[in-house]
Amino acid sequence: MWLRAVTSLPRSVYIHIPFCRRRCYYCDFAVLPVGHSTREVSQRLWEQLQKLSAQGRSQHALTAPSTSSDRTLDRIYVDAVISEVSQTLERLPDRPSSLPELDTIYIGGGTPSLLHVDELARLLSVLPRSGHTEVTMELDPGTFDAVRLHQYRDLGITRVSVGVQALSDEVLRACGRSHTVRDIERALDDLHRCGFGDAYSLDLICGLPNLSPGAWSETLARIGTWKPPHVSIYDLSIESGTRFAAWLRDGLLQLPLEDEAAEMLREAMITLRETYGFDHYEVSNYAREPALRSRHNQIYWRGGEYFGFGLSASSYVHGKRFDRHRQLKEYLEWVYSGCLPFDEVAGDTLDEWLMLRLRTQEGLSLDALQERFGAQTVDRLRIAAEPFCRSRHLAFRDDAHGISLYATDPDGWLILSHIVLELLVALEGFQDRSPARPNGNIAGGNEDALKPVLLYETSSTRAQAPNS
Ligand code: SF4
Repeated sequence: MWLRAVTSLPRSVYIHIPFCRRRCYYCDFAVLPVGHSTREVSQRLWEQLQKLSAQGRSQHALTAPSTSSDRTLDRIYVDAVISEVSQTLERLPDRPSSLPELDTIYIGGGTPSLLHVDELARLLSVLPRSGHTEVTMELDPGTFDAVRLHQYRDLGITRVSVGVQALSDEVLRACGRSHTVRDIERALDDLHRCGFGDAYSLDLICGLPNLSPGAWSETLARIGTWKPPHVSIYDLSIESGTRFAAWLRDGLLQLPLEDEAAEMLREAMITLRETYGFDHYEVSNYAREPALRSRHNQIYWRGGEYFGFGLSASSYVHGKRFDRHRQLKEYLEWVYSGCLPFDEVAGDTLDEWLMLRLRTQEGLSLDALQERFGAQTVDRLRIAAEPFCRSRHLAFRDDAHGISLYATDPDGWLILSHIVLELLVALEGFQDRSPARPNGNIAGGNEDALKPVLLYETSSTRAQAPNS
């Protein structure tokens, strides 16, 4: 299993908080819509835990409450995550008493800002930090205020990611979001008043229903005026099992045409970079300046290792990945039955190298690729990349860091999935096509920061893309 022969441990942790006020219509994430009252769910879960304990399956019973009614859902959940952390430590050969001092922590969801601040404090107490640790937390507009932000600061949250999604009440309603544009504006005021002025990200989705090209241009103009430290823009993907998927099947969902949506994304890439001067450092991510990039997410894109804890979280430790249960009941049973090892999937595959690193401005280092996969792979990649270089979707850069292959902005990034697929087909003999599944969130609207690369294959990009 992955915790054998440990020499060094990841210095990054992702924690998933699954609570949301309601489920947004496009979201297939592991979340628990709790409305504004969690009492009934808490009661059911508490009964479930008692049952496990009575069956002798709970080896890690936590401090029993005096009555079941004083256990709120978030307390039950945080107990489980803390137990998971301690059981992970117990499985390490030298059984350290705590995780190593962490470089980055990301609390995603879900809507982590629904977590009671005392529970957040308990959670953070098991995550060792230094003065340099980046601690990011996702927030949804309408779920926090200035008082709460001060509390977050006091607890050591250094950066927040706000699930804005759209700057139109009509679009927000069409997606089932719980907040309004007024909530977003209030949230921005509070962030600036409470010391997060240089430490927040606004997350948006392109291609939403009722979003006209004109409204999208206005959205970009407002973002340009606000000049937030960081912006993430994801393209809408329709996931099976969501309301959007059902409505699309029944002809009830009016989405922008594919070409139109691709043009909106192209406009965002060009406008944010050229007009407003953002550093477009990853296909979906923009920083006002390089120092304001998300350090945590860069770990994923560079193939770094991390612990994940909580419902549906993924870990990547010592070259192996595994994902936890997506249902709360199963997750709690798993934790209180001893966190038995999951099936692991080998990470660090060629697929991942191409998919993750080509998402970044730095691209794929050929020296590093050669070290991992051999000179022959590099030679074959150079040949496979040639047509895309001719069409200016890929390019080689030769600088102080050596030679790297990167996707051009915006043309290469707009068809990145297609490019990666073509490269992998050309590099025949590599079997593992399973994409990396680092932790991301659709939450807070932060849409999956790492979902396999976006693809718009429009009539115009198809015409330019070789081999398509
Ligand atoms: S999109 Fe975000 S806020 Fe909406 S249900 Fe999903 S995780 Fe919750």
